[in-house]
Amino acid sequence: MYPLFDIEPVKAEGSFVYDKNGQRYLDLYGGHAVISIGHSHPHYVANISSQLEKIGFYSNSVQNPLQEKLAKKLGELSEMDEYSLFLCNSGAEANENALKLASFKTNKSKVISFKNSFHGRTSAAVAITDNPSIIAPLNRRDDAVLLPLNDLNAVEKELSKGDVAAVIIEGIQGIGGIRMPDDTFLRGLRGLCTKHNAFLILDEVQSGYGRSGKFFAFQYAGIKPDIVTIAKGMGNGFPIGGVLISPDFEASYGLLGTTFGGNHLACAAGIAVLDVIKSQKLIQNATTVGSYLMDELSKFDQIKEVRGLGLMIGIEFEQEISEIRKKLLFDKKIFTGVSGKHIIRLLPPLNLKKENATLFIQKFKEVLDKI
Ligand code: PLP
Repeated sequence: MYPLFDIEPVKAEGSFVYDKNGQRYLDLYGGHAVISIGHSHPHYVANISSQLEKIGFYSNSVQNPLQEKLAKKLGELSEMDEYSLFLCNSGAEANENALKLASFKTNKSKVISFKNSFHGRTSAAVAITDNPSIIAPLNRRDDAVLLPLNDLNAVEKELSKGDVAAVIIEGIQGIGGIRMPDDTFLRGLRGLCTKHNAFLILDEVQSGYGRSGKFFAFQYAGIKPDIVTIAKGMGNGFPIGGVLISPDFEASYGLLGTTFGGNHLACAAGIAVLDVIKSQKLIQNATTVGSYLMDELSKFDQIKEVRGLGLMIGIEFEQEISEIRKKLLFDKKIFTGVSGKHIIRLLPPLNLKKENATLFIQKFKEVLDKI
């Protein structure tokens, strides 16, 4: 899938991972925005372990109160308790099901997405992703329309044709380079979707679960989407995804389905994540430590632009960043993410301590001073 770094992590704790030689690395990548509450959090480990000793899996044809418990905690913490929850196993699967729901309900198939978007690699999700090189001929669709981000007129023009099932947008574009939809754009989208009977889907797979400093990034705009998709931070590494569905949708048997989605172990992981986000106030921590990092980063002359919210930060350079990232990883022992050739992406665990953010700033300065 990717060129591999010659590093083999065998242990992890909090914001650090340790390789097989005992070398410690500061993790500002979170295994691609997945580690939300920190590696190997004791409450998380205990919840999954004790669940495994009871029952790890049974099918969705029997009662599983853990699903209700997870949905209730999620509804409360995200302030979206009127929404229903469908549980699945990944971000692409969440988007696939969200699009399917919108298409079922409108009986239409056209979907609007945005330039630089990423929604996953499965059939419909990849068709509406802005990367032709990962769209196989089998996935290519004529009714997938890519429009410029923050261009409300272009959206209105397309929606007014009356054949659109859904508009899908990331709360903050992740893989596309930490690009944010304006609040006014999101509010405009909300109004236009209602006006033209299309559904607004917010892909919060990467930007959700507190990463932006709010539970969902779209909450900065004060809107209510029809559907919200979630994954990455939801299980802190245990594969789990979900679709939050507004009360306007009426559930009917068989509309959606899954074998593994919502299994006991995944729910135990998901519940522990929500417990820790709440009890350790990790959303506030994302705001505090994220703002500190952005302030410090904006002092570097070598950086073209710093963008982001909370602990979802993009650092854009004029020059290519591969050498900087290699130096950070191999000389300074710090994992970072990337977006294209010019943007470093920081997606650390949400419990990143300020002292570790400071450590990064110091090491980053040492690297940049020698470039
Ligand atoms: N949506 C967004 C915004 C993502 O960033 C990703 C993955 O990076 C996905 C969907 C797909 O998630 P997954 O890899 O779990 O299928």
